[in-house]
Amino acid sequence: MIELRTPAEIDAMRPAGRFVASVLLAVREAAKVGVNLLELDALAHHMIREAGAESCYIDYHPSFGGSPFGKVICTSVNDAVLHGLPHDYVIVDGDVVSIDFAARVDGWVCDSAVSFVAGTPDPEDLRVITATEEALDAGIAAATVGKTIGDISAAIGDVAESFGYGVNLDFGGHGVGREMHGDPHVPNDGRPGRGYKLRDGLVIAIEPWFMRDTDQIFTDADGWTLRSVDGSRGAHSEHTIAITEEGPIVLTSRDG
Ligand code: MG
Repeated sequence: MIELRTPAEIDAMRPAGRFVASVLLAVREAAKVGVNLLELDALAHHMIREAGAESCYIDYHPSFGGSPFGKVICTSVNDAVLHGLPHDYVIVDGDVVSIDFAARVDGWVCDSAVSFVAGTPDPEDLRVITATEEALDAGIAAATVGKTIGDISAAIGDVAESFGYGVNLDFGGHGVGREMHGDPHVPNDGRPGRGYKLRDGLVIAIEPWFMRDTDQIFTDADGWTLRSVDGSRGAHSEHTIAITEEGPIVLTSRDG
């Protein structure tokens, strides 16, 4: 079921968006060469406790997950591209790090992800990160009242194609509200004009993720982490947005 939010409800989601943004900024700042992924999870956990927020991940146990997630952030490094389960790993120079984070504040959830390189970047890694960022921007720009989910999907897919990246449709964006995942599904490729017509008050997460040389993934032995089948590196960019008559509002903006 697709739920629409009133302007007051969208305003009530802003603290969750600001909190999620603040955690991603802090984790990104902390994610230097030599830092353990478990330290990043501990930092986010500390911030959740300090803020009186609630993790959406720690007890998360969907049908595709091997066990309850048990951590509060996803840390996907290099060939891991989504759902990376934080583990005892120390970041090395040139690693591509993707952090995905969702939390509930005052009963409302926001969800966002960012990718970056720790230390010295490989230009090809920066390129795939840039592609996901540009695809996210294009998806947000298409998220206006009267357009459709297919318009958002097509905008994302067009950016992927322009960079020469394939799109895996197994995981995509989703409705966000009281829970982390709701309707509608927002695929990362599709046809303009198709699907649900966007209405004032629809709140969704848009989350393009691409890999350098493949569109195929497999699940790591940890039961969670999704890796590219060929070892190529990937990136992931995500924001939670509210679609309004005045245009899209990026609830998880990190621009201050
Ligand atoms: Mg997310």
